[in-house]
Amino acid sequence: MHYINGLWVESDRSFAVTNPANGEVLGSVADGGAAEAEAAVKAAYDAFAAWSGMTAYQRSEILYRSWTLMSERAEDLANLMTAEQGKPLKAARNEVKYAADFLLWYAEEAKRVYGETIPAPRADQRFMVMREPVGVCAAITPWNYPISMLTRKIGPALAAGCTMVLKPAEQTPLCAKAMFEVFHDAGVPAGVVNMVNASDPVPVGKVLLEDPRVRKLTFTGSTEVGKLLAAQAAPTMKRVSMELGGHAPFIVFDDADPVHAAKGASLVKFLNTGQACISPNRIYVQRSIAEPFIATLTERVAKMKAGLGTETGVSIGPLVDEPSLAKVDRQVQDAVAHGATVCTGGTRLTEDGLGDGLFYAPTVLSGVTADMLIHSEETFGPVAPVIVFDDEADILEKANDTAYGLAAYLYTRDISRAWRIAEGLRFGIIGINDINPTAAAAPFGGVKESGIGREGGHVGLDEYLDTKLVGWSV
Ligand code: NAP
Repeated sequence: MHYINGLWVESDRSFAVTNPANGEVLGSVADGGAAEAEAAVKAAYDAFAAWSGMTAYQRSEILYRSWTLMSERAEDLANLMTAEQGKPLKAARNEVKYAADFLLWYAEEAKRVYGETIPAPRADQRFMVMREPVGVCAAITPWNYPISMLTRKIGPALAAGCTMVLKPAEQTPLCAKAMFEVFHDAGVPAGVVNMVNASDPVPVGKVLLEDPRVRKLTFTGSTEVGKLLAAQAAPTMKRVSMELGGHAPFIVFDDADPVHAAKGASLVKFLNTGQACISPNRIYVQRSIAEPFIATLTERVAKMKAGLGTETGVSIGPLVDEPSLAKVDRQVQDAVAHGATVCTGGTRLTEDGLGDGLFYAPTVLSGVTADMLIHSEETFGPVAPVIVFDDEADILEKANDTAYGLAAYLYTRDISRAWRIAEGLRFGIIGINDINPTAAAAPFGGVKESGIGREGGHVGLDEYLDTKLVGWSV
């Protein structure tokens, strides 16, 4: 079902939603197109005046109620996420908590949309700067974090006084529906948030991007699609926020503890089965500690259990679809053909009841070199490619040698080196001996082809605010 103007709306057509771990059909969802998108834009446009006219305290209270309801439903949301997206239940619970944090953070931040006064050049002049909501926003989101990618956009948009039309990912509409039930039950007024599902995103995207009443696009997804959408947003000069792909370097220097660093690498690389934009895609280890690092990483990864996310001990879920699985395997085969060694994994998993799902063995590759696809292409799967390096002098150049610029990690116990490298890395997020540099209060986003703008933190609210200068002769 779509959610338009406070009502659940059906379409003539529908599409099925399946569990990627076993192919089981979980339900079906109304399949929308241009007509539904137009109705949703109209609803969001009509609701804007009243919503933006409410006090920040009133909007804050509704966001706070959404957070409370979401927290009460956390376990159901996590179970649904595991069934629909495939991540293990523990990871789904973590995502629901992370997602709820955005509603709480922006419920608070709604009350802190401050303007400023500026000294004017003339004695009889005053300058006042006001912040105003951008207007109707379109949001397009991916399947890999099917709930937090929604609240990271809806939280600040509503706090700022904007209204929204969301097109969630085709693979995870049920998670989106469950979140819209939260907003409905929390008393978000009709038209303030709207959702249109579609098996073909193009007609819906076209309406959202061509309609001049939509003043902003906030997109999370691949760099390829982000570029297409940014071009479509240009003729009506919409503001855009782009959270796109990544190719994170993970650099382990010789003064780091190789065992501790390997533990970190195994945790962050295989988070969400590698289907994360901040997933390390090039693991650089300095030669003198390469052996214990690779041995520990391999030992830990070889023990990882793949399966249904509800089963105890499972940490590896399925990939989202057949093309994703084929891409992972293609990168592994290409690396092997160019001389890489498979330390563990390297094949699709079909035994032990995994045949109906889309599972790939958690894999460690050593001897990875720059001529391999995996060295430059985003993998989005459970493969850890290890590259041995010699000198600090050229590691920055190597790490920065990518069109992407989202996350980067480094392990060292030398504080000067930590500063030097963190300053030299051309990425939006740096983890120093830290594999989870994310939180609702912290700005998330990339540079270069990883995107434009930030989500989270107080800067995440700026994305939904215009600046108005009032000059005044007294
Ligand atoms: P995707 O293929 O770009 O799709 C993302 C969303 O865009 C989906 O809702 C998709 O709809 C929609 N879409 C695709 N083509 C469109 C078009 N022509 N017009 C309008 N909408 C269109 O990305 P994905 O495979 O779902 O997600 C994985 C990517 O997201 C990775 O590259 C990952 O790095 C990135 N990501 C980035 C962040 C971040 O914060 N930087 C976070 C998470 C993920 P359908 O589902 O119907 O195809």
